[in-house]
Amino acid sequence: MGWEAWSYGIFLFMIGAACGSFFNVVGIRVPKGISVAAPRSSCGSCGRQLNAVDLIPIFGWFIRRGKCHTCQASISPIYLVGELAGGMLFAALPWLVARDELWIAYPLVSVLLMLTVSDLAYMLLPNKIIYPAMLGFAALRLWLHPLPLWQYAAGFILGGGLLVLVSLAAAWMGRPAMGFGDIRLMALVGLVMGVKLVLMCIFLSAFLGSLIGLGLIAAGKLDRRSPMPYGPFIAVAGLLCFCFGDPILTWYMDLVVWQAF
Ligand SMILES: [Zn+2]
Repeated sequence: MGWEAWSYGIFLFMIGAACGSFFNVVGIRVPKGISVAAPRSSCGSCGRQLNAVDLIPIFGWFIRRGKCHTCQASISPIYLVGELAGGMLFAALPWLVARDELWIAYPLVSVLLMLTVSDLAYMLLPNKIIYPAMLGFAALRLWLHPLPLWQYAAGFILGGGLLVLVSLAAAWMGRPAMGFGDIRLMALVGLVMGVKLVLMCIFLSAFLGSLIGLGLIAAGKLDRRSPMPYGPFIAVAGLLCFCFGDPILTWYMDLVVWQAF
């Protein structure tokens, strides 16, 4: 990569980290019904208003060493992770996604980051974020649709519908069922990506969820019966499908064909 590409990447990283900081605020405040504009952010323990140093994306967290400057209460690493993820994704997208699809990719990453923060913090995927996102992406897809339009409509119905069936089956087996938020989020993924990729996202999110869930149970960090937020797995799987869906499918098909003969 030449220096132009590097400076472009670093510029996008800084924008992404600043946006990530805002997405954290949205993800933390919207479920509680607090305005994202006011009041200014403060320490959850002592109530001290955060100043400019605290608010520098990423660096602020390291300068304060993950603790409140006044009361030494530890600051959740969610904030740092959200800023880093925003920076890295914003910087990487132009290299991962076709030029036209960037109009979809940036809003998608933004919405998924807000929802992930909210789900990790409260196990909640707020309708106040999901419904406007559905309207926004429906409008974007009317304008930009590499696949025929019915694909996105069918993806919406299939994503939501299949997750309703999965959660009914889970409830029937006495397992912790998925929430309505997860169902709506999968419908949103289908609306954005169409039939093929939403099916892939359902499988991949279930795979990642079981993998991490079993790992946490084995490590004694999670009880078998206790619920785990599923939204972050839908978000990660959705992004992987959006960026690498076709290569993943080719690789998987090769694997299956290779196994069959
Ligand atoms: Zn404090």
